[in-house]
Amino acid sequence: MKMPEHGRVWDEVKADMIARGGGDAAWRDGRTAVYVFNAGQDISRIQHEAYGLYMAENGLGPLAFPSLAQMEKDVIAMGLDLLHGPEGSTGTMTSGGTDSITMAIKTARDYARANGRPREGTNIVLAQSAHLAFDKAAHLMDIEVRRVPLKTDGTYEADPEAMGEAVDAATIMMVGSAPNFPHGIIDPIEALGDVAAKKNVWLHVDACVGGYFAPFARMNGVPVPAFDFEVPQVHSMSADLHKYGYCAKGASTVLFRSEDLYQYMPFDMAGWSGAPMKTPTLAGTRPGGAISAAWAVMNSLGVVGYREKQGLVCETRERIEEGVKRLGFEVLGNPMLGLVAFRHPDHHAFAIYGEIYRRGWFTSVTKEPPSLHLMLSPKHAEVVDDYLADLEASVATVAGGLAGPKVEARYS
Ligand SMILES: *Cc1c(COP(=O)(O)O)cnc(C)c1O
Repeated sequence: MKMPEHGRVWDEVKADMIARGGGDAAWRDGRTAVYVFNAGQDISRIQHEAYGLYMAENGLGPLAFPSLAQMEKDVIAMGLDLLHGPEGSTGTMTSGGTDSITMAIKTARDYARANGRPREGTNIVLAQSAHLAFDKAAHLMDIEVRRVPLKTDGTYEADPEAMGEAVDAATIMMVGSAPNFPHGIIDPIEALGDVAAKKNVWLHVDACVGGYFAPFARMNGVPVPAFDFEVPQVHSMSADLHKYGYCAKGASTVLFRSEDLYQYMPFDMAGWSGAPMKTPTLAGTRPGGAISAAWAVMNSLGVVGYREKQGLVCETRERIEEGVKRLGFEVLGNPMLGLVAFRHPDHHAFAIYGEIYRRGWFTSVTKEPPSLHLMLSPKHAEVVDDYLADLEASVATVAGGLAGPKVEARYS
């Protein structure tokens, strides 16, 4: 596209944009189980309006916009309260999980350096199921990633003992996930905490996809094990608002047990021609709308609202588990929240994936082991039966040797 010489009227531009979405995954109908968290039209309206209210304002300027500064403080306080942040714990909003993880690693690295750890051979130790955002951040900072195989007992949990063996004097962080993305399984954070304490290593819990889900699931009676700051060795956490917090995209939280740890995160700089600037995260300009929308959704839903939404998601996951088991699938491990992965003993998951895709479902896969993967939203409660019917038909197609051409499941 070349920029038009003369602009068009907004009504026309808008119509063009809406038409362009016609070929996108049909997430509004609940036929997408990746990328989008659909909590219904009421929440969507709040996101839109609350984002718009502070869209022009800039989180870079807390003195100009004390409104945003206070909303961010409130969001962090709510997050810390839900995740057992002790007295003195603190944190910042970021643009997303990758951002939160990057900042946590940077903070742990600078903390390690300030505390006499070697600069050579800097590494982080994580399970094979931990999110690739850790590798991306490590790549940026020239840090070695040590991925450790999962337990082989069918739980799909991180193996704390094996991870401990991968730690050395230059390890700046161990990582546990709550839950991991590929299998939706919460790692044994208490056991990881014991190992990290013994090795005197920073423990980060990646609760990007579970941080604003697990506390409410627990309130609803789900036996969620200790996974947050309740575990004494947990130094930092990442928890995304734009996932199961149902906030507008561009919103996550990175949280620290104490100001002592957090102090290594902000970048404070005066040695240039401009005014001195202190920024907490990688961003300079920070979209005010992402902050205000998060504040608005959290205040609109409240504990009761979140419990209801997450209860519905858990119920939906249970119906899916029941349904896929009836079709002969095996569910991986013991998922407790909104993610579930399952595989078939007789048919390759990726062949079934292609068939379910052809039937209009944009879902995902897990590679190790090859499985189908769903990330469920409240909206999916309405479409479970349709999905299971199409899954059954997909299995039949594959079983009959009638599968169509291969569809490659990729994130991009
Ligand atoms: C989504 C996710 C991330 C990355 O978050 P983004 O917001 O996509 O950058 C990290 N860890 C886990 C477990 C996730 O589910």
